[in-house]
Amino acid sequence: MQTEIIPHVNNCPRTCSDCCGPVPFTGTEFKALPRQHRRTLSMLQASPQNRGRCAFSTHDGCMIYENRPLVCRLFGASEQPMMQCPHGAKADNPLTSQETARMVRDAILGNKGETFIS
Ligand code: SF4
Ligand code: SF4
Repeated sequence: MQTEIIPHVNNCPRTCSDCCGPVPFTGTEFKALPRQHRRTLSMLQASPQNRGRCAFSTHDGCMIYENRPLVCRLFGASEQPMMQCPHGAKADNPLTSQETARMVRDAILGNKGETFIS
């Protein structure tokens, strides 16, 4: 995954999780998680619940911040209208909607469509 080309999102505190709904993890992102978090995701696939929040969201922010998936890294870093932070956090040079769509498509295709929902 080319996360290194995702621009930094200014003024996004790690303790905020207001944009953290359930999100998709590709197979590669799933495998990169520590074992206990892989177990959490596996259990959710076996017994899906409509929680409205990501399983890794806490009052102190994301518990897997270093391993968060592509869609989380893109939030606030893209011109895509659905990726805009409600608090105004944004990148100086956001990705275009086309670049964003291409990254998501490539990540999904590269994983043969395998996804896990948090
Ligand atoms: S992008 Fe916005 S809503 Fe999401 S964690 Fe950062 S400040 Fe909070
Ligand atoms: S993985 Fe982390 S950053 Fe992404 S939605 Fe879940 S809690 Fe938020």
